[in-house]
Amino acid sequence: MDVSHIFKQLNEAQRDAVSSSPGPLLILAGAGSGKTRVLTYRVAWLVQVHQVSPLSIMAVTFTNKAAQEMRGRIEEILGYPVSGMWMGTFHGIAHRLLRAHWRDAGLPQGFQILDTDDQLRMIRRTLKQLNLDEGYWPPKSIQWFINGHKEEGRRPQHIPETHDTQQRQLLQIYQTYEELCQRFGLVDFAELLLRAFELLHNNELLRARYQQRFQHILVDEFQDTNAIQYEWLKLLAQHHRNIFVVGDDDQSIYAWRGARIENILQFEKDFPGTTVFRLEQNYRSTSTILTAANAVIDHNKGRLGKSLWTEGDDGEPVRLYAAFNEVDEARFVVDRIQSWVDTGQRRSEAAILYRSNAQSRVFEEILLDVGMPYRVYGGLRFFERAEIKDALAYLRLVASRQDDPSFERVVNVPTRGIGNKTLELVREYARTNQVAMWDAALALIHSHQLTARSTQALSRFVTLINDINTQVNGLPLVDQTDIMLQQSGLTDHYRKAKGEKAETRVENLEELVNAARNFEHDPEDDMDALTAFLTHAALEAGDTQAKEWEDCVQLMSLHSAKGLEFSSVFLTGLEEGLFPHQRSLQEPGRLEEERRLCYVGMTRAMRQLYITYAEVRRLHGREAYTSPSRFLGEIPRELIEEVRGGFTMRPSLDTDVRATDGETENGMRLGDHVRHQKFGDGVVLSIEGRGQYTRVQVNFEAVGSKWLVLAYANLQLL
Ligand code: ATP
Ligand code: MG
Repeated sequence: MDVSHIFKQLNEAQRDAVSSSPGPLLILAGAGSGKTRVLTYRVAWLVQVHQVSPLSIMAVTFTNKAAQEMRGRIEEILGYPVSGMWMGTFHGIAHRLLRAHWRDAGLPQGFQILDTDDQLRMIRRTLKQLNLDEGYWPPKSIQWFINGHKEEGRRPQHIPETHDTQQRQLLQIYQTYEELCQRFGLVDFAELLLRAFELLHNNELLRARYQQRFQHILVDEFQDTNAIQYEWLKLLAQHHRNIFVVGDDDQSIYAWRGARIENILQFEKDFPGTTVFRLEQNYRSTSTILTAANAVIDHNKGRLGKSLWTEGDDGEPVRLYAAFNEVDEARFVVDRIQSWVDTGQRRSEAAILYRSNAQSRVFEEILLDVGMPYRVYGGLRFFERAEIKDALAYLRLVASRQDDPSFERVVNVPTRGIGNKTLELVREYARTNQVAMWDAALALIHSHQLTARSTQALSRFVTLINDINTQVNGLPLVDQTDIMLQQSGLTDHYRKAKGEKAETRVENLEELVNAARNFEHDPEDDMDALTAFLTHAALEAGDTQAKEWEDCVQLMSLHSAKGLEFSSVFLTGLEEGLFPHQRSLQEPGRLEEERRLCYVGMTRAMRQLYITYAEVRRLHGREAYTSPSRFLGEIPRELIEEVRGGFTMRPSLDTDVRATDGETENGMRLGDHVRHQKFGDGVVLSIEGRGQYTRVQVNFEAVGSKWLVLAYANLQLL
């Protein structure tokens, strides 16, 4: 595609940004104004007009999926495939660097990534080693402490000594944790970034080499970079200064994970002579949606300030639905999506967004009930499911025997008679001799310190792993996975288990084989296929879910919706304490971050925006009355249309256990006031089942909410 063609796709401000001469560039613009589009076209521009080799371009995106999409777009613009360009997330790129230079980074060649769960397990192990009580030293807080320091670039030795005994203890835990990870070649997410930074910082030759190689650096969603990411970018760009960053201060939503909105302001100081571009036209949303979102974000103080307008028409009003409870909320949403799909829209153009991953379950249940395909991003993602983690642990152990978390995970799964006592001995031996559990097991087997039975069981496990290793050597990834599943007995183990859950697990394992089959291994990576696959699983949990090709409703947390757009968006759970989140209510800074999250959510919508809340919500096993989110009050009334309760569930949505129209056969409806002889007056919250099986949930003024079988409850309609 030639220059004039590229220009045709852009407005004037975008054109100026895309074609500006090299040097530091900052694009500061609101949601949907084409920042990502400009970044993509900039890459094409560099290649096409400046004859820049794709090899000397590095582009940092928010997800690997975004990177893939961007690559596709660039190839489309250019009209030919590009290879050799480094595109991906900070974590992905850092990992690639560490793989290529493991020796310089001080890592073993087969180092493995610890995901959040594995990290917690490792922290527990550290506590044990130090004889500390988990009750007093909660692993989650320690994880927070360690990651927080790493994100700021601080190793234990960088943290100033204090007399505070608590602080000193935390520091010792951090240090011991690091030693353990180092010994076993394990790298957590924050470590990936810190190591990659140190690699370039401490090694002049390498630094020079990569400064030379990446002549052009582009960063999307710059407002959410943390300290170490920014330092790393500066290292790479300090000489040529060809750094192109795009961001929106109003969409900074990761301060809780160390992101620094100030990096935007700092950028102009660190790169004097930065050209700043502002894009003001929004191409995504109707003017109603945009006005509503602007009104909400306007309540934040300390913004950099932007104006955003659209040529789009008014479109439909923002629709607000007050549900009785979370089930009613989910039914409403699914019902609306169904009607929308019936008019010929694609399911994948509808997104259900929520503040907390735990909210997805109810939506999933209703979607399953009505048989509507869906996909959940985030939450308990495919690669985080127990059975998948079991399978991956086998693969990881085959790849690296030093991987203790994997050893622990599968040494007795499926059960092979290795009891806790034996394991405790293995752990003990590993601890005292400072070796991996695998080596400890070998030593114990040979030293005859265990009972004959334990020795035998452990040997069987060791032989099994070695055998799998021999068998899969040199085979394609899909066969490696398949053989591992057979030999380890995992598939059989879950097949023998009873119930629906077990069935899903077997399906998931089968899906893993599919994932391995479809996994595209970039031969330019300096990794073998298995390592690349395991890395992908650790870094990209969520992007590869079952049945990717199917047109399905998208479910995700607000945090993972960043950068995306959908024709129809359902923003759910707008209740005080849930959204804004409880933890943010006391701190003005965090409340503003919640509001930015709300802004991100609203601005995902192109044509339709629904907002819902539930008057009663059961979450984390507790049921509570709620009050509507303050963010609702910040949307101008005239933009909102309230959708009343008592919507009709169309017959296609019913299964035989659901009541039709949210109404019982004797005419009781959600929201009706009723009287019970013993419990007094209350309001009907849910109705389930039919005929003699009908159950109703009533919230009684005096005693709270109760489920009653309608046939026996003798409820009087008021
Ligand atoms: P966010 O802040 O949410 O990340 P963004 O600023 O990155 O948004 P894009 O995703 O690049 O915005 O663009 C939003 C939508 O507007 C996309 O569908 C994009 O294709 C479209 N768009 C942007 N610029 C133009 C243009 N000049 N002409 C037509 N469509 C455009
Ligand atoms: Mg974007």
